[in-house]
Amino acid sequence: MIVMKFGGSSVANAERIRAMADIVKSQLNRKPVLVLSAMGDTTDHLLDAAEKALKTGPHTVEQSLEIITDIHLCALKALGLSNSVPEDIKSLLSDLASLLAGISLIRELTGKTRDFLVSFGERLSVRIAAMYFKSIGINGQACDAWDIGFITDSNFTGAELLDECRLTVPAKIEPLLQAGILPVVTGFIAKNQAGDITTLGRGGSDLTATFIASACGAEEVQVWKDVDGIMSYDPRIVKSAKPISHVTYEEASELAYFGAQVLHPRAMLPCCKTGTPVIVKNSYNPAAPGTIISAALDSSAAPVRALTSRRNVTLVDIVSARMLGASGFLGEVFSAFARHKISVDMVATSEVSVSVTLDSSNELSLIKKELSQIASIDIKTKKAIVSIICNIEKSSWILERAFAVCAKLGVQVQMISQGASKVNISFVVNDTQAKDLVCGLHKEFFEHANTTL
Ligand code: ASP
Ligand code: MG
Repeated sequence: MIVMKFGGSSVANAERIRAMADIVKSQLNRKPVLVLSAMGDTTDHLLDAAEKALKTGPHTVEQSLEIITDIHLCALKALGLSNSVPEDIKSLLSDLASLLAGISLIRELTGKTRDFLVSFGERLSVRIAAMYFKSIGINGQACDAWDIGFITDSNFTGAELLDECRLTVPAKIEPLLQAGILPVVTGFIAKNQAGDITTLGRGGSDLTATFIASACGAEEVQVWKDVDGIMSYDPRIVKSAKPISHVTYEEASELAYFGAQVLHPRAMLPCCKTGTPVIVKNSYNPAAPGTIISAALDSSAAPVRALTSRRNVTLVDIVSARMLGASGFLGEVFSAFARHKISVDMVATSEVSVSVTLDSSNELSLIKKELSQIASIDIKTKKAIVSIICNIEKSSWILERAFAVCAKLGVQVQMISQGASKVNISFVVNDTQAKDLVCGLHKEFFEHANTTL
């Protein structure tokens, strides 16, 4: 069996649902389990509707509801399914209207209500898709994730799947496949043990898919998106960016942490555990090979896999003679960051100093005051992190070339770190120079004939 996951833009309207069905049809012999997101931007529209209901009351709900209803009813119509809109779709839409009216009256949106609200998106999309499959002679069956064994804790808006799902999910899926059914499963949502609807966090349908694949021993999981796979850099900035054919789970996690459009690292975990390959494909261009994410790379792969960057970063230099030969100093520094709930990204230390990078949105006046008692603190804003995701065994070769690019462009590197995960080398530079540096590095590592050792 395989798992095929289609994100919001891959099921955004009738045309995309037809394209999705064509892709599925061509692989029916592999016994697919489908996982779908809400159609298009439905999740955002639902949250937006709730926001309006909270702020401005009942009269604005109508408008938002219309947008959401239109997305679904228009798709049904264009798919030729509107002659008999089934009761379950009608009742979902009317429950949604009541819920939004309720939110606008009580003006309160708890995590539990929020999860219940966004669940309508995935519940509607799988029903419409399953109906379409039936209309073209494929035995699709809409499945709410809780009906196929997805149980979570009660951490609304970011729930964790319980361990027992590794047994409950295959126990429900296998009989469906044996009966020749194409399960069309809601991504992103589940229920807790009390029967309340929960969600796995934004973008959580990737996790639904990788979890099913891993628990059921699937051959692979295909994640269908609207890009040709994982790219060497953001194609909006570097026009010559190209899809990467193969990365490891570790590299893909590193890319995701730096904000590249990949899978959430949490979604990679189940497949990483069982070694199930994840293939990122483009539903708008199914012929493109996509990117394979798996445990090991073949040794002939180019040493540099991709570049990423994070803009608008703050660099904090903490210098103290007390650090020399002392123990516990770093502990004091980091527990101060923890107390102030500030997340530290990159770290570099020397005998008497430690430099860290932080997101620029952090308010630093209090921690500065506190740390000033034990060290001298220098805060430098408007920095950027540029990272090279690479095979670290080739780091000397990579660093030599990267520094030559920096020297040529007059970019001064202010901090450098070779990630402990051993798949990235990161530089801190002035934010104003980040774009030039990325373009220069991209040329060096991806646009020359000389990109392999
Ligand atoms: N529909 C949800 C979201 O937009 C889950 C997903 O698409 O993965 O976050
Ligand atoms: Mg989405």
